[in-house]
Amino acid sequence: MHELGITQSIVEIAERTAREQHAAKVLSVTVEVGSLSGVVPEALDFCFEACSNGTLLEGAQLLIERIAACARCLDCGREFPLDQLLACCPVCDSAACELLAGEELRIKEMEID
Ligand SMILES: [Zn+2]
Repeated sequence: MHELGITQSIVEIAERTAREQHAAKVLSVTVEVGSLSGVVPEALDFCFEACSNGTLLEGAQLLIERIAACARCLDCGREFPLDQLLACCPVCDSAACELLAGEELRIKEMEID
């Protein structure tokens, strides 16, 4: 389960940031998870308590914001939602699309004390 490693990284980064700001404790961490990031939000949630044990994040709330994936067609300019990485434009069927959102996996903000 690679969410365990990801959760450990989130905890480490958040704890380092909190220490830099001389925080005594982290109250909550908000993480953005794109629908194409390959990460299951429920699994992050599941791992968080174990990973945060004994750190400044112990007892903190993990808030997960899901980001829906969307892309823009480079041929007709249409923006459309997508549920997989390889998608064609629903309007002109072009495969020349750029991903606008969906691969996010990052700490958006944290609340410290
Ligand atoms: Zn198009």
